[in-house]
Amino acid sequence: MSNSSPLFWQDLQHAFSCTCPRCRQGALYVSRFSFTVRDTCPICGLALSRHDAADGPAVFLIFVLGFLLVPMALVMEFALMPPLWVHAVVWTVVALGLTLGTLKPLKTFILALQYRHRPET
Ligand SMILES: [Zn+2]
Repeated sequence: MSNSSPLFWQDLQHAFSCTCPRCRQGALYVSRFSFTVRDTCPICGLALSRHDAADGPAVFLIFVLGFLLVPMALVMEFALMPPLWVHAVVWTVVALGLTLGTLKPLKTFILALQYRHRPET
């Protein structure tokens, strides 16, 4: 096991708090319902605008959720054979819920990794 493994798990746990990667107290996002990162941390003053996750979290979620949800929809179709509207409702709700529920923690995790490995940027 490498030395970075405990740090990786610490960053992963930290991701669900959606807080600053340095002080782990200041709110990372402008508001609870916003995906916009603050320019600076309100607690420690870290310049958060220098750390940019870009489209990384969204692309990662597209691949992971697509890989998981399409087979689940196929299993549901072959096992239950529901009407098409059931698929539309179920998979829309599941996909939106998983996307909105995991996008901010994933973005926080990627920003924490950037801060840990490129703190000078
Ligand atoms: Zn901070």
